[in-house]
Amino acid sequence: MPNNNKELTLSAPLSGPLLTLANVPDAVFASGAMGDGIAIDPLNDTLYAPCDGEVIHVARTGHAVTLRADNGAELLLHLGLDTVELQGDGFSMLVKQGARVSNGQALLRYDLDRVALRCKSLVSLLVITNGERFQARPITLKAVKVGEPLLHIVARAAGETRSDEPQVGIEVSGQIRIVHRGGLHARPAALVRQTAQRFKSRSHLHFGDRSAPCDSVMGMMGLAITEQAEVHVSCRGSDAEAALQALLKTLSTALAEEVHADTPRVQAPNHAAEDGVLQGVCAAPGLVTGPLVRLEGIQLPEDPGGHDVEEQRQRLRQALEQVSRDIGVTLENAKARHHADEQAIFSAHLALLEDPVLLDAAYLSIDQGCAAAHAWSRSIDVQCQVLRQLGSTLLAERANDLRDLRQRVLRVLLGEAWQFDVPVGAIVAAQELTPSDLLQLGAQGVAGVCMAEGGATSHVAILARGKGLPCLVALGEALLEQAPGRTVVLDADNDRLELTPSAERLTQVRQAQAQRAALRTWHQSLAHTPARTVDGVDVEIAANVASSAEAGEAFANGADGVGLLRTEFLFVDRHTAPDESEQRQAYQAVLDAMGDRPVIIRTIDVGGDKQLDYLPLPAEANPVLGLRGIRLAQVRPELLDQQLRALLQTRPLNRCRILLPMVTEVDELLHVRQRLDALGTELGLGERPHLGVMIEVPAAALLAEQLAEHADFLSIGTNDLSQYTLAMDRDHAGLAARVDALHPSLLRLIAQTCAGAARHGRWVGVCGALASDPLATPVLIGLGVRELSVSPPQIGEIKDRVRHLDAAQCRRISTDLLNLPSAAAVRQACHQHWPLG
Ligand code: PEP
Ligand code: MG
Repeated sequence: MPNNNKELTLSAPLSGPLLTLANVPDAVFASGAMGDGIAIDPLNDTLYAPCDGEVIHVARTGHAVTLRADNGAELLLHLGLDTVELQGDGFSMLVKQGARVSNGQALLRYDLDRVALRCKSLVSLLVITNGERFQARPITLKAVKVGEPLLHIVARAAGETRSDEPQVGIEVSGQIRIVHRGGLHARPAALVRQTAQRFKSRSHLHFGDRSAPCDSVMGMMGLAITEQAEVHVSCRGSDAEAALQALLKTLSTALAEEVHADTPRVQAPNHAAEDGVLQGVCAAPGLVTGPLVRLEGIQLPEDPGGHDVEEQRQRLRQALEQVSRDIGVTLENAKARHHADEQAIFSAHLALLEDPVLLDAAYLSIDQGCAAAHAWSRSIDVQCQVLRQLGSTLLAERANDLRDLRQRVLRVLLGEAWQFDVPVGAIVAAQELTPSDLLQLGAQGVAGVCMAEGGATSHVAILARGKGLPCLVALGEALLEQAPGRTVVLDADNDRLELTPSAERLTQVRQAQAQRAALRTWHQSLAHTPARTVDGVDVEIAANVASSAEAGEAFANGADGVGLLRTEFLFVDRHTAPDESEQRQAYQAVLDAMGDRPVIIRTIDVGGDKQLDYLPLPAEANPVLGLRGIRLAQVRPELLDQQLRALLQTRPLNRCRILLPMVTEVDELLHVRQRLDALGTELGLGERPHLGVMIEVPAAALLAEQLAEHADFLSIGTNDLSQYTLAMDRDHAGLAARVDALHPSLLRLIAQTCAGAARHGRWVGVCGALASDPLATPVLIGLGVRELSVSPPQIGEIKDRVRHLDAAQCRRISTDLLNLPSAAAVRQACHQHWPLG
């Protein structure tokens, strides 16, 4: 037998028909969590060694044995499914642990009839348990006789695996309780994988008596780890300790959306409630009417088989690359818009797309002659089945993410366009929509969506809520029997899809819809006029943007300017730093998009929660308290100079305002002013842009008066100001509800900032998220803020809010709010004094 210490051919240990692992009726083996391999439905009563090697483990109950082949591959030979429960009855092990065996040597004998009668299935497995180093390639998938060639075992190439690193160093392990709501589902599993990939060590997750490598999302989900379960993590390699700590942290940190209180209630639907009404579960609230349109999934024709293996492998590879690029674009988009939910969902999709369990099964089917599309589809179906069998609703819902990937890859393979044939204002009905379907439908202007299946905690539900798109799930199969084209009412607020609404009901819903639309139009129509309070105080409503495209959108929405351009997000998709000319062009594009309005451009603010691929920073013990924001200039002064030079070359300079992040003392400001002067002189400029300071740490707020003496304006970053004032991580999911910028301590700092600025005649803006909260508008105006930089879609609404306020009254009431005991008390008082419409 050829054995060049890398490649090895295994001979059949049993006689009988072969099955791919994916077709084994056992969720764990089928998921690949135990490793790559093959299954045989045995017709004989003896298990033989498939190669020369050493017996490294024999099961106490005699149903399984593990060999180490001479090339290092470790092979588990497992007779039957759930045969451990027979406690050795019917088995006789013929070898001992530590024995040397040769190819074709009998390893264990069993009583075929006795075992067959008492176990779930005789299907037996040959699995490589150190799959990080070796791969199995089947030689045949027909029936085999003992001793016939069965599998090629090939060492993984460098790059396919993280080298031989796992073989070195000690193994460390730790234990942790899973806090993720519903257990370890796709997004947390994807985060675990992402964390593991930062290290050279190999890491595994162990739950009960089962394990999965941390680089397989499917494998980890296959463990069916429930919420509050204790799991073990083991890491082996040179950086094992660091990997372990990072993994324990990831496993014990809840996702942001898991602690949000706005997840709708989940209740069992009652499908037989009322004539003409389907009862479902609200995934996103709202009341709309429109024509019902049915969306079908992609149907594949029969596959005749017998395809060229290399060609189909390449087709699948290319389609996967294409989809991976497409998801990458969606991700960047979400990142630039700070849309954390979208980011998390599509990061998980990217991880699933690279999952070895899915890929191996698909490529294995191709090797058997399947077409790429069918191979991919089959691999997904098997894993969906696995997820459904795990007995967790949440994991079963995640099958929808797999179906999403099936559709995306099939679309590419079949060359189908991704534009649904649905009219604007339609109510879309489907068996189940996928996250990317939802983004596409949202962009096509549908009024609402409803699904026969699905759950309120699914990714589609999260996205629908984020988009404000009314959505009902779990309406049952009856939904799919409805004639398309009929006008229905989707009353997601009350979990109902009304199939035969009366004319009166339709009028009522249309009126409510029209009122909301009218209000939006009303806000929009006045969005281009200045916002002035009833007693004549002008408040500038600017926009936070991340690109020139968003600036264009903000301008069209009536923004009085750009209140914050986060320059660190202009080049997020880059692996190399932008040079001076690229930066100048990008800044100029934003200025050009804003007509004659001012644009506040913040110098690069990396570090803490913001990381850039092209600007790796040294690891810090406390990154949010480390070299971030303006402090970066201490260690990389050339970066600041380059950015200032690019900014000084924009035109007209009087519309370009520069803002400095994370300032804590006056010297930082004076230093930048001095650099701005020197560089301006070098460039032969007579004019300098306005220079402002962000107030985002308590030190800056307390020093506002001194800063205002040298700054042209101050802009309050309430996101960081909350973090640093309340000593609560702004990204800490468990504290999210408490990091509230309406906390009286922050209001005091804002008041102090405004008072300090006023002493030098400077204006104060707010560019943190509090500016976009209409409940906070009167308080901020009352405390003296005169510019609010909000998210572009909210410009009209916030301007309208300002126009209904009396600044003098706001001032009186806001002063009293400083004495309240908590953020909750402030919010309550705001609702009382200035109710929202
Ligand atoms: C802030 O901290 O409020 C702010 C606007 O800056 P960023 O969110 O970019 O840190
Ligand atoms: Mg900040």
